[in-house]
Amino acid sequence: MIDLRSDTLTIPDKPMLETILTAPLGDDGRLDAEGRGEDPTVNKLEDTAAALIGKEAGLLCASGTMGNQVAVLTWCRPGDTVLINDRQHLDRSEKTAFDPRFGQLRKAMYRLDDQFQPDLTEIEAAFKTGNIKLLCFENTHNYSGGTCITVATLKEIAALAKTYGIPVHMDGARLFNAAIYLGVPASELCRYVDSVQFCFSKGLGAPIGSVLCGTRDFIQEAKQTRKLMGGAMRQAGVIAAPALYALEHNIPRLQEDHDHCARCAQLLQGLKKIGIQKKVETNILMLDMKDAGITPQAFCDRAREKGLLIRPIIDTWVRLVFYKGITAADAEGAARIIREIDAEL
Ligand SMILES: *Cc1c(COP(=O)(O)O)cnc(C)c1O
Repeated sequence: MIDLRSDTLTIPDKPMLETILTAPLGDDGRLDAEGRGEDPTVNKLEDTAAALIGKEAGLLCASGTMGNQVAVLTWCRPGDTVLINDRQHLDRSEKTAFDPRFGQLRKAMYRLDDQFQPDLTEIEAAFKTGNIKLLCFENTHNYSGGTCITVATLKEIAALAKTYGIPVHMDGARLFNAAIYLGVPASELCRYVDSVQFCFSKGLGAPIGSVLCGTRDFIQEAKQTRKLMGGAMRQAGVIAAPALYALEHNIPRLQEDHDHCARCAQLLQGLKKIGIQKKVETNILMLDMKDAGITPQAFCDRAREKGLLIRPIIDTWVRLVFYKGITAADAEGAARIIREIDAEL
């Protein structure tokens, strides 16, 4: 079975798991006068991650969802309005901040333009209402097929946000995929935002964890929010050690995932009925069943019978994700199966 459901399916390899056995551990929930926990491996991971992306401090979170929610709930208070994209993970798949039982935040929406860049006119119009407390965006953008927000757009967003005095949070679950595609260091993408979250547990291949980064003051506050959410962990070095290993070893190899994704897309040109994402940039490829005469779920069921595991993602789209452990032969096999189904439609 070729399993392209998600890059969260990466299985930690042996050298990665072995880092756990020798990692110095302590109680990360027990804080010193400076607010640092007692687990040296967690501290090393937070410092390494923050330095790598050019931020002052980092905070290990159990998941990307927790990283985003901690960020939003640190920037905002109940009743505040967050400006988000209408297809953002933070809204579609994470609920705490906007749930009337928990965060009690309101949301305002902006759209992405046809280049999958945040629509700056809509953002400025929202800022002008005077109601917006925080702006969020996603890079790469999951539900658009792993598309990247360019440095040029980021500069414009930062300038607008500065004019109106509004902080910006970037959901960089796949930050390094964006950096690799855009050919810039991740720090160049992060300098335009006030806080950023990225995942160790997707393409980077670690089993658990995300890090939220920002200024030292912001991260101190975020640590309180994380505790409120039950996210203060103890010997979390067992999570941090594989994540450190991922940072040290698995960033450049993301290019392979992009190559496999591009190869699959190339082999899918000229399909009869199934639509295909126009510009494939990173490790995600989306197929459109709008005019295929088959529902996304039925298409996925058929693919499964032929040995390919994929899932509907949004509207009429099905998502394929390439990650560590998926080979060029798998990418070609997936394309072959999809072509076969297309021919039968
Ligand atoms: C996966 C993902 C998250 C959340 O990560 P989890 O670790 O699954 O909670 C957040 N944002 C985006 C864009 C994602 O793809």
